Amino acid sequence: MPELPEVETIVKDLLGAVLNKKIVALKVFPGSERLFIKHRSSYFKKQLINHSVNHLSRHGKYIIFHLSEKKFLIMHLRMTGSMSVSTRKNSQLKYEKIRIIFSDDTAISFMDIRKFGTIDIVNTLDILKDKLGPDAISDEFNVEFLVDQLKRKQSSIKAALLDQRIAAGVGNIYADEACWDAKINPLAPAASLKKKQINQLCNSIKMVLNNSISNRGTSINNYMDLAGNQGYHQTKVAVYGRNGEPCIKCRSIIIKIRVVGRGTFYCPKCQNK
Ligand SMILES: [Zn+2]
Repeated sequence: MPELPEVETIVKDLLGAVLNKKIVALKVFPGSERLFIKHRSSYFKKQLINHSVNHLSRHGKYIIFHLSEKKFLIMHLRMTGSMSVSTRKNSQLKYEKIRIIFSDDTAISFMDIRKFGTIDIVNTLDILKDKLGPDAISDEFNVEFLVDQLKRKQSSIKAALLDQRIAAGVGNIYADEACWDAKINPLAPAASLKKKQINQLCNSIKMVLNNSISNRGTSINNYMDLAGNQGYHQTKVAVYGRNGEPCIKCRSIIIKIRVVGRGTFYCPKCQNK
């Protein structure tokens, strides 16, 4: 699943393709039915056409198009969603579900292999505020916030970090990488962590996310950018996907366990607390 750095990379690349452009058509391809469970495609057409994209932003793993007349188009790529730039005339791309066409005949496409991606149009972003904590690279995501959240969690720290109400944008890869960097065992009860550990963890989360953004994201689970290229961060990961290989710090063998159903990788020596 694309996590914060991958979505951030997509948003940055999308900016040049959509900013200040007027939407003139929405093309809907077969297999897109799941996208239109909440609203029919005709509703989206009516809401989008003749509106301009004034701004683009991201909160956690959500892409937010700020449209004229204070409407917001919100996309989530979920497991296998991706975006691409195209044109009005291009034939259907592989797994393409919808295409938003602009007045200059350029377009952006939303592709999804497993069809779990979502789109919605809203008049306020309150809906995101209700289900997401602060974005994990924002100033609001800080040690005070984390201390307050973790003390009431009854789960492991790994499970807590996957909770989007706590660390919006952090997913399986970066939760493992941050725990390794902070020398925290992913199974440690979240509420048992000391403030010093939480402070380190907060710094580690931001560090691994920002490093990955610099590397245009991690392409382990079929993530590709707008141009169909992979990121570079998969060559930099310390533990994720490295079970059976030596820890880059202590040479102990990285092990893989399951935490809340998610493959979790850690170094038993570096992360023994
Ligand atoms: Zn180690």
